[in-house]
Amino acid sequence: MKYRVITIAGLLLCMIAVWGFSGGWFLKRPVAVDATEFIMDTVVSVKLYHHDRKRGEELIAEAFKEALRIERMMEAVKGDGEIRRLNQRDSNGWFELMPELGIVLREAQKYHELSGGAFDPSVAPVKWLWDFEDGGYLPSQSELEQKLPSVGLENVTIHGDSILFLNSDIQLDLGGVAKGFAVDRMIEYLSSHGVESILVNAGGDIATLGKKPAATFFGAESDWVIGMRHPRLNRTIVLKWNPYPAVATSGDYQRFFMKDGVRYHHIIDPATGYPASKCASVTVWTKSAMLADLLATTIFVLGPGKGVEFAESLDSVETLIYFERNGNVESVMSSGIEGRIGI
Ligand code: AMP
Ligand code: MG
Repeated sequence: MKYRVITIAGLLLCMIAVWGFSGGWFLKRPVAVDATEFIMDTVVSVKLYHHDRKRGEELIAEAFKEALRIERMMEAVKGDGEIRRLNQRDSNGWFELMPELGIVLREAQKYHELSGGAFDPSVAPVKWLWDFEDGGYLPSQSELEQKLPSVGLENVTIHGDSILFLNSDIQLDLGGVAKGFAVDRMIEYLSSHGVESILVNAGGDIATLGKKPAATFFGAESDWVIGMRHPRLNRTIVLKWNPYPAVATSGDYQRFFMKDGVRYHHIIDPATGYPASKCASVTVWTKSAMLADLLATTIFVLGPGKGVEFAESLDSVETLIYFERNGNVESVMSSGIEGRIGI
């Protein structure tokens, strides 16, 4: 009996000592740390959980630097990055690509082929004609016809990290995929520094890692909840269940101008040079934000019918499409999420 009292007392003393030495760390809950910056022409926000708020803030600041680095590399018009350098080339030989650009351009080419040309970063000269960044301009048919011959990623050959332009007028714009790539890099940076619970959102291109930790020591962790804008109604669609950790949305409300009651927006059908008109918004879930971003733009061009078919033909891809029919907004989705997401 006497020994048992001594043992229990010893155990208690031990626990108090551990608590003291660790500063109570093992019972401390990670705190939510978040921050927002304007990068890549959009609002980029990061939320993560960390035991040390200051360290969490430092890591987020470094992750924003990653996004800025990608923006600079992939920005087509401003600055002095790699894509700008390629667009300003004065010869058509082979050019070396930075490995990260190689990854993105090889992926762009793969889905350009798979989608029958719907995804095409070489739509750049046509897209710039529309001048969405500066209030918008409605080009004439002949202006569009002048630019269309330089559109076609089939006139670009990529081998490993080298690129060959077969048409001297080809210009590239990675606006349909770069944000997603930056989101993936930010997640990678943060997770490589030990963060296990992260949500990054770059203007609707979103990736998450892990789950939200429990608020109390005995509580349960929970899934990230993602808010998505309805393309026509002033309401948020709350996605409590997400089939994959990355989700991206392309919408005709993101960058557009109205003229004579017609909405002209920034997702261009490379076949016509006009804004793709079959969808109002396309959301894609898959394993990486880069691919989600790329496929949302692609499916937007394909339209609801072909778009769902295209998503169904790919592994680990789900899509939700809003479109207008006879003045009403309707939606269609791939079979893997049917009945599982509340919209
Ligand atoms: P997102 O918001 O991801 O759909 O990307 C739209 C951006 O992608 C535009 O601002 C253009 O820079 C670029 N873009 C437009 N049309 C296409 C297209 N058909 N294929 C690839 N990129 C495109
Ligand atoms: Mg996109």
